[in-house]
Amino acid sequence: MGRPRIRDDLAALEGYHSPQVDVDVRLNTNEAPGPPPAGFADAVADAARSMDWHRYPDRGAVALRSALASLHGLDGGDDPAARVFCANGSNEVLQTILLTFAGPGRTVLTFEPTYAMHGHIARISGATTIDGVRSDGFLIDADHAVALIAEHRPSVTFVCSPNNPTGIAEPTESILAILEAVKAVDGLLVVDEAYGQFAPWSAVDLLSSSDDLPLVVTRTYSKTWAMAGARLGYLLAAPWLVSELDKVVLPYHLDALKQAAGLAALEFLDDMEQRVASIVEERGRIEVNLNDLGCEVWPSGANFVLFRPPADSGLTGDAVWQGLLDRSVLVRNTASWDHLDGCLRVTVGTAEDNTVFLTALNEVLAS
Ligand SMILES: *Cc1c(COP(=O)(O)O)cnc(C)c1O
Repeated sequence: MGRPRIRDDLAALEGYHSPQVDVDVRLNTNEAPGPPPAGFADAVADAARSMDWHRYPDRGAVALRSALASLHGLDGGDDPAARVFCANGSNEVLQTILLTFAGPGRTVLTFEPTYAMHGHIARISGATTIDGVRSDGFLIDADHAVALIAEHRPSVTFVCSPNNPTGIAEPTESILAILEAVKAVDGLLVVDEAYGQFAPWSAVDLLSSSDDLPLVVTRTYSKTWAMAGARLGYLLAAPWLVSELDKVVLPYHLDALKQAAGLAALEFLDDMEQRVASIVEERGRIEVNLNDLGCEVWPSGANFVLFRPPADSGLTGDAVWQGLLDRSVLVRNTASWDHLDGCLRVTVGTAEDNTVFLTALNEVLAS
């Protein structure tokens, strides 16, 4: 039978797995716990009514990119949009970076455990991946990172900070050391700040100092902005780098309604900041309660918490995950991931959801 064969280098590749199960309390994908403010939906509906639907969208998404540059204080120069690149979710941003700077014959470095899509998209681009390993406590050891970069000369190095799924943000000094090492091998450093709003500092601050850095910072509307359904992400970088990405991405990839939605969201900054504050407060409550239940807990700078159920419960991570699911609570099962033996990751939900989760966990551990 003449079935076409997929690329040999993709034959062994596994797809992205994150079960979408119908449950009462969904705390597995780090989405925002509630919808965007009501005024946001009205603004998008107004935009939809007045839109030139028969026309292609603004290919350069200039209004949206300029507004994002201004949000981050990077709108200086003749072209205020020049330091921003937008795409359909930060996953498409990552894909565009990798299509542009990785590919066959090139190497991409990650520090495990981390966001699986970095290595996954790198391999789809045809690149070879090198796995660095995080030290105890899941921070990156800067000396280890610098040595790996000098040895393997990766075209692209990923640092996820705050890191998914461990939650920890890297200190500035580590990022600076890694950036120096990357520069020395003509590589590119990508700092994935999908959870940047929850972190104590941002690598965006480094970008404002110079347009010569081989540095990209990625962000998403999916988490804090409560817009996972819209699929919108962006990166901040020097103008020369954004121009290269513009050559690679498909023309008109960012539809007009999404551009309008991204702009409309920026009118609700205060609202977003309040949401971040209440998620941080709830995160603290979850951490304290997990500790009280005897779990091992890693301090989080994001909107989720990684924990390992107590060994003396006699339950594996899989069993605790199943026990929660039996009580209609879905968390992310990371128990069989490398370096995360027996761990689970819970997204911070509404206060009510979090209480249901903690009560269910208490029951499971006592069973
Ligand atoms: C959720 C997540 C993303 C993906 O974001 P989208 O904008 O929804 O594609 C990227 N990076 C990390 C680390 C994430 O956790």
